[in-house]
Amino acid sequence: MKTHYTIPIFIPEKACPFRCLYCNQRNISDRQDSISPASVKAVIDNYLNTIPASAGKRIAFFGGSFTGMSIAEQNQYLDITLPYTKNNLVDEIQLSTRPDYINQKILDNLKQYKVKIIELGAQSLDDEVLSNSGRGHTSYTVQESSKIILNNGFDLGLQMMIGLPGDTIEKSLMTAQKIIDWGAKYTRIYPTLVIKDTDLEDMYNKGLYKPLSLEEAVEWSKYLMQLFNDNGVIILRVGLHPSEGLLTGKNLVAGPFHVSFKELVMTDVWKDRLSNVKVEGKRLVIHTNPQQINYAIGYCSSNKKQLLQSFDYVNFVADGNLNTADFYCSES
Ligand code: SF4
Repeated sequence: MKTHYTIPIFIPEKACPFRCLYCNQRNISDRQDSISPASVKAVIDNYLNTIPASAGKRIAFFGGSFTGMSIAEQNQYLDITLPYTKNNLVDEIQLSTRPDYINQKILDNLKQYKVKIIELGAQSLDDEVLSNSGRGHTSYTVQESSKIILNNGFDLGLQMMIGLPGDTIEKSLMTAQKIIDWGAKYTRIYPTLVIKDTDLEDMYNKGLYKPLSLEEAVEWSKYLMQLFNDNGVIILRVGLHPSEGLLTGKNLVAGPFHVSFKELVMTDVWKDRLSNVKVEGKRLVIHTNPQQINYAIGYCSSNKKQLLQSFDYVNFVADGNLNTADFYCSES
């Protein structure tokens, strides 16, 4: 399978007249201004210079609600991508948007531009959580938009958040199940953070909102990842991209942020998988898929250290013949 590279174009809050309770795109992404259409070409050219010619390439518009712009404004961006897709320099276009900014006219326009993937911010598919979060749409809106996207031949992505006001592990699992049932090919899992200059910050300061602890967010994400993996939904991201404002804490008030959030989740996944390993003696070798070996060893070698409490010697060996979730044990 050929490697796919994404050329990201960030348009924070461009096109989004909304202000969900938890959102301040500028403080999440650290980008103060949306990229102008004129600068998009330079970004694409710079990326193409660094991507192998034989690799798959996708231009992705992130950070706002792309289809919330007028069609004329959307086309200012998409027109720039057209020579790249027409000349096969780029394979496809991806964009993210709100579920209530989808209709047939919008989709007909996107079809002309080789847009292949449309990701909707579903966030939760529990109507009470959506209402608590000031999303301004219901789960029915997500369901109807998902249908029309799929019926028009696009690939569907449904992003979700965990730990929004009123959320529970049961509601998050129900959200994930609906994401699967409604035909999403892709998902992203974002733990809710309290970001500076949001209504959620006010609620947090008044004691009206309690974010998930890091341990809870890791545990919920572990169950969600297992559910998505079991049902063939591709997880594009777990945890927010660590912008400088989040890393320094400048824009972060509270919540389960960790620079290696996905590693923590995968460490927990492998901790469960390795909890009952047995071999005859006291020397243990665990064979895993090469892409999984660091997760199996664990963040800061935590899984290896745990096993060393029961074995005198523990080693991990990569085996390219194994599927990502598979492993076997041998004695050294
Ligand atoms: S719709 Fe998306 S970009 Fe707009 S305020 Fe809500 S979370 Fe932020």
